Amino acid sequence: MPHIVILGTGFAGLWSAVAAARALDEARLSRADVRITVVNRDAWHAVRVRNYEPDLRQVRVALDDVLAPIGVERVEGEVTGVDFEHRQVVCRIRGTRHVLEYDRLVYALGSQLLRPDIPGLARYAFDVDTFEGGARLNAHIAGLPEQPPAPGRYTALIVGAGLTGIETATEMPGKLRASLGRVAPAEARAQVILADHRPVIGSDMGEDARRVIEKALACLGVVTRTGVSISAIDGGGATLSTGERIAAATIVWCTGMRANPLSQLFPGKRDRFGRIPVDRFMRVKGMPEIFAAGDAACAVIDDLHDSVMSCQHARPMGRFAGHNVVCDLLGKPMLPLRIDWYCTVLDLGPWGAVYTEGWERHVVATGAAAKRTKQIINCERIYPPRSRDLRQILDAAAPVVQAPPPAFG
Ligand SMILES: Cc1cc2nc3c(=O)[nH]c(=O)nc-3n(C[C@H](O)[C@H](O)[C@H](O)COP(=O)(O)OP(=O)(O)OC[C@H]3O[C@@H](n4cnc5c(N)ncnc54)[C@H](O)[C@@H]3O)c2cc1C
Repeated sequence: MPHIVILGTGFAGLWSAVAAARALDEARLSRADVRITVVNRDAWHAVRVRNYEPDLRQVRVALDDVLAPIGVERVEGEVTGVDFEHRQVVCRIRGTRHVLEYDRLVYALGSQLLRPDIPGLARYAFDVDTFEGGARLNAHIAGLPEQPPAPGRYTALIVGAGLTGIETATEMPGKLRASLGRVAPAEARAQVILADHRPVIGSDMGEDARRVIEKALACLGVVTRTGVSISAIDGGGATLSTGERIAAATIVWCTGMRANPLSQLFPGKRDRFGRIPVDRFMRVKGMPEIFAAGDAACAVIDDLHDSVMSCQHARPMGRFAGHNVVCDLLGKPMLPLRIDWYCTVLDLGPWGAVYTEGWERHVVATGAAAKRTKQIINCERIYPPRSRDLRQILDAAAPVVQAPPPAFG
């Protein structure tokens, strides 16, 4: 029986699996005709984009709620290699090596935070890259009142003022305030610093959106430090390349993402983010039985632009990869992915958000109006149905491109 194996259950992998099940259902085939198996290191679909939030209870969806009703098998294990010649995935399940044979593979192992080799970074810096990272950060902040008094006990330094760093920084005053609520007012001096080696904050966002971001940061009392580089981190703070010291008990590293290091296994070229080039059908160039989607892959999304490492692109890439892998297996025509719009809705904490349209990032909404859109995206639009209803789950994975999220105000 043919076997489709999908690696990863993030936005790309989960939607690949559901779309593959949908395409088989459409072809009136069942799992007795074609097996679909996903491999992921844990039992969750991680809504990774919410890891900076103060309450992480809703940011993971149990995979079994989505995959069991549609007959997709699930392997909980760490992928350690792929033998392309023998069509085998190697993974470690509870310490034991396992091999899975595939006929078609969808590679969707995503990306991870870029961690340069800076002394102390691995040991002392926090992150919001994974659920575990976000949860560790929130537990640390909640535990600050129990730490011995020291300079910088209530200072948070966020390093990297791209989108993730800005979202982390704008949420941080509220997190620190909640923690400080439990200590004497004399001690209650919280400070949030957002630092970047570039000359401006939010350098990819364009001038108009940057003005909005700066206003929000000022309103929230977030201090910015641009043109600075970190040379070392320790338990009490960070040292800048100039020798200046910033005392901070909380340092959050947010300096960008790179494709999963397993992407290095693929022969051929990768882009500057380590991504594997795929064609418009999400097929890895030169490897006809392998598809890739999400942050691990790079597709030309319209006539001019490469896909961006984002859930905005990972979800449709996943849906098309899953649909097309079945079409390819069944000898049917595949569907090309083309996305004619691009937008960014950046959370700015209690201040609101900023919604930009187009690659030029034209600002269309700010403040509370944009925040309404952000909440629709983060809490509804990007979630799979959790009803366990087969038809509802399959219908959500149709290989179509959604309209942009609504703009209000
Ligand atoms: C804090 C934060 C905020 C963000 N905000 C936005 C936003 O507002 N808008 C937006 O569009 N994007 C945003 N992003 C980016 C977005 O989260 C990613 O682009 C998206 O998650 C990519 O989806 P993916 O499925 O390709 O990869 P991932 O989400 O990285 O999923 C990969 C999956 O593979 C699993 N995996 C990885 N390696 C292995 C292995 N060796 N073995 C087994 N399993 C493995 C992982 O556990 C995971 O389940 C944000 C990211 C972060 C961290």
